[in-house]
Amino acid sequence: MKKFTDQEKIDLLTDIIAMKSVNENEIEVANYLKDLFNQYGIESQIIPVTDTRVNLVAEIGSGSPVIGISGHMDVVTPGNLDEWETDPFELVEKDGKLFGRGTNDMKGGLLNLAIAMIELKESQALTNGTLRFLATTGEEVGAAGSKKLYEEGYMDDVDYLWVAEPSVDVIIYSHKGSLNFKITSLGEAAHSSMPEKGYNAINPLMEYLLEVDKICNTDPRTNEILNRLVMSTTIIEGGSQVNSIPDKAVAQINCRTIPEFDNEEVIQIFQDLAKKYNEEKKSKIEVEVTMSLPSVFTTGQSKMIDLTKELAKKYFDKEVTVEGSTGVTDASNLLRDKGPDFPFMMFGPGETKMAHKVNEYVWKDFYLKFSDLYKDLILGLIEE
Ligand SMILES: [Zn+2]
Repeated sequence: MKKFTDQEKIDLLTDIIAMKSVNENEIEVANYLKDLFNQYGIESQIIPVTDTRVNLVAEIGSGSPVIGISGHMDVVTPGNLDEWETDPFELVEKDGKLFGRGTNDMKGGLLNLAIAMIELKESQALTNGTLRFLATTGEEVGAAGSKKLYEEGYMDDVDYLWVAEPSVDVIIYSHKGSLNFKITSLGEAAHSSMPEKGYNAINPLMEYLLEVDKICNTDPRTNEILNRLVMSTTIIEGGSQVNSIPDKAVAQINCRTIPEFDNEEVIQIFQDLAKKYNEEKKSKIEVEVTMSLPSVFTTGQSKMIDLTKELAKKYFDKEVTVEGSTGVTDASNLLRDKGPDFPFMMFGPGETKMAHKVNEYVWKDFYLKFSDLYKDLILGLIEE
């Protein structure tokens, strides 16, 4: 009966931190986990998302309840390497912490899910119910992996879901959506001494951006947990020469949405306003939605969250709070057709504040203990 030693757990993390799955190459992590599961007789499936990118799904047990456990295999870029004190793709232990890109967000969490699954299989403790491991690709940019899993029905029969994103300090049960736009304004080039011979693409775009900003950011609707929608123009490009009237300008926008003011409504506002501008002015403004992840709103009232709070107290002597969050997770896609009563949470060994930072780390103690907490949680959920 397999029980991973601390050293074996560290070795597993060392191996997958060395895999540079910076928004690509998740297949290396997927193959590694598939091999690992295979050693313990757990079947898993590699699910292609694009030509080069894959998800991995593994399952043990049968029947209900179906417990979904999920994590992403990609990591964000290490950023400026000069700011790192260690090689981001080499696991380094120092002062009770394990350093490396993805230790916190979220290969540490992902491995704890896998370890919990293997140990439950080995101990034959899962006497009823199904445990489904859902590892995704590309969570950090567009979440194509979780979209694929949702579309292919892997969530249809799931009764509980948690993602092991970094949140040891707080259980997150709701989060905002994320919506990206690319707005292109087309004009006509001319010499800047005779602007009337052309049409300046920048001018209507500036007006348009300020108007959508006002509509979105002054809307009074507020979600009790998630607060208000926020919208920001984050990239703007246009023109090529100081004495030429620009014939093209492009802006990109990110919106963080709430259920009361959702992605569909925001998209409609953007499109209607572009139409109005194009009818009333000479402008040619085109609106493209480049990413749309809905918000996740659940009540946070569930046996799963109650039990998790108890277990956090037992394992770490911590009173964890239960809150909403502004960041998005794969749950945006995975919970597309689940209602507010669906038991969902984000809870993993990393700290929320460490995500995407240089010198990323996970506390060794949390990393080593989390699989035991997850096992207790799973066994608690299958109890009649
Ligand atoms: Zn993450």
